[in-house]
Amino acid sequence: MRAVRQKDTAPEVIVRRLLFRLGLRFRLHVKRLPGSPDIVLRRHSTAIFVHGCYWHRHPGCKHATTPKTNRDYWLPKFKANVERDARQAEALRALGWRVLIVWECETRDPVTLEVRLRQEFDLLPDP
Ligand SMILES: [Zn+2]
Repeated sequence: MRAVRQKDTAPEVIVRRLLFRLGLRFRLHVKRLPGSPDIVLRRHSTAIFVHGCYWHRHPGCKHATTPKTNRDYWLPKFKANVERDARQAEALRALGWRVLIVWECETRDPVTLEVRLRQEFDLLPDP
């Protein structure tokens, strides 16, 4: 849902700080690429989207609730969001990019998120 797509959200900033601390360098909001990824690590051919669990429907997440009313309105909107995300990821992969999704709820547990990001980028854990 374009209208709610914001730049520089708190979860995004958490991910950026973490990547920076891990020594990774990146560009932000690269409009030339499909979906205008939030964070692009060219050296690693990796595009990262920091997704809100609600709008992007994090599977199995307690934050991906569905409104009890106006379902006819919301369900197609959610479906369109998920389909758009999938299309954009596919387009990026077709261009040779690896696509990572970081969910907003993951940014609430920075220790676990750091472990994940170290694994994604083959970085050794802190001694
Ligand atoms: Zn979530």
